[in-house]
Amino acid sequence: MTYFRATTCDEALARLAERNPHDGRHRRIVCGATDCFAEAALVPAAFDWVDISRIEALRRIARDGRTVRIGAAASWEDILATSWLPASLRQAAQGVGSRQIRVQGTLGGNLCHASPVADGMPPLLALDAQVELASARGGRRLPLLAFVTGPRDIALHPDELLVAIEFALPRDDARTAFIKCTNRDGSALAVVSAAVHVRVGDNSRIAEIAVVVGGASPVARRMHAIEAALMGRPIDALAAIVGSVESVASAPLPELAPIDDGRGTAAHRTALVRVAIARALTSCLEESHHGASFV
Ligand SMILES: Cc1cc2nc3c(=O)[nH]c(=O)nc-3n(C[C@H](O)[C@H](O)[C@H](O)COP(=O)(O)OP(=O)(O)OC[C@H]3O[C@@H](n4cnc5c(N)ncnc54)[C@H](O)[C@@H]3O)c2cc1C
Repeated sequence: MTYFRATTCDEALARLAERNPHDGRHRRIVCGATDCFAEAALVPAAFDWVDISRIEALRRIARDGRTVRIGAAASWEDILATSWLPASLRQAAQGVGSRQIRVQGTLGGNLCHASPVADGMPPLLALDAQVELASARGGRRLPLLAFVTGPRDIALHPDELLVAIEFALPRDDARTAFIKCTNRDGSALAVVSAAVHVRVGDNSRIAEIAVVVGGASPVARRMHAIEAALMGRPIDALAAIVGSVESVASAPLPELAPIDDGRGTAAHRTALVRVAIARALTSCLEESHHGASFV
């Protein structure tokens, strides 16, 4: 095992371009290490590591007009401390692990670990986020949807680094929310989760909507059938809308493939998905109704 702590992106990319002369393997990236060193398959001694957690440029959270750029090494606590970020992303950050995990764990690590219950995925998919990747060969951008391709499977070459996540800040009249359903209070992984990004038009009807569910498919999914059913609906009939979410979500949904595991059965997950979407949507529409700010 070797361990190298980079202080600039160029240093990290140069190390990632090299291979171990004995076994030909590329080095592995570690950031907060909350996933890396907790996973049996990633026994620290079995790899050559490049630590990117001290690269200041990767920790920055910045805004240029309506474009938001979050460095891959920004921690969950950094996100929580940035009050102008969308509510859904800050609600997701609030629910990650304990404070120790939120201080150490990063948004980039969460996306690259690619767990089906990663809390960062639903809010960012609902915001149509993109990722910026870099290697010594150059840079490229991908929609987040194309970056996370399966559980523990991402479209990242062995010499590449996830540099940043970008998305457009929601309009002032849009609302976002994230709901995480767990089996107990406190530090727990989601059984399922839902993120919603919704805008009500001048005619008090839903003018834009994105609904994303995590934990009920190999990768978090946009719920296109629910979005289509709600688009254009008047929001003064909130109870009817929530009722229609429940009935739409109880119909077979091709987007979801919930499984039975230690945290819940497929049937339990399907029932919770309905609750999570309805709560996220209610939170957005009630805030919109009262004219509250989205942050
Ligand atoms: C007790 C505990 C509780 C947890 N609770 C939650 C929870 O409630 N919700 C949740 O979603 N997660 C939870 N997690 C998982 C974890 O904390 C998060 O996924 C965290 O955000 C991972 O970030 P990290 O910086 O620690 O990643 P690391 O462990 O450093 O890395 C994870 C993976 O991503 C790769 N990687 C990291 N950064 C980059 C990069 N910039 N470019 C390319 N590859 C990269 C690494 O090579 C590794 O494969 C928990 C973990 C623990 C141990």
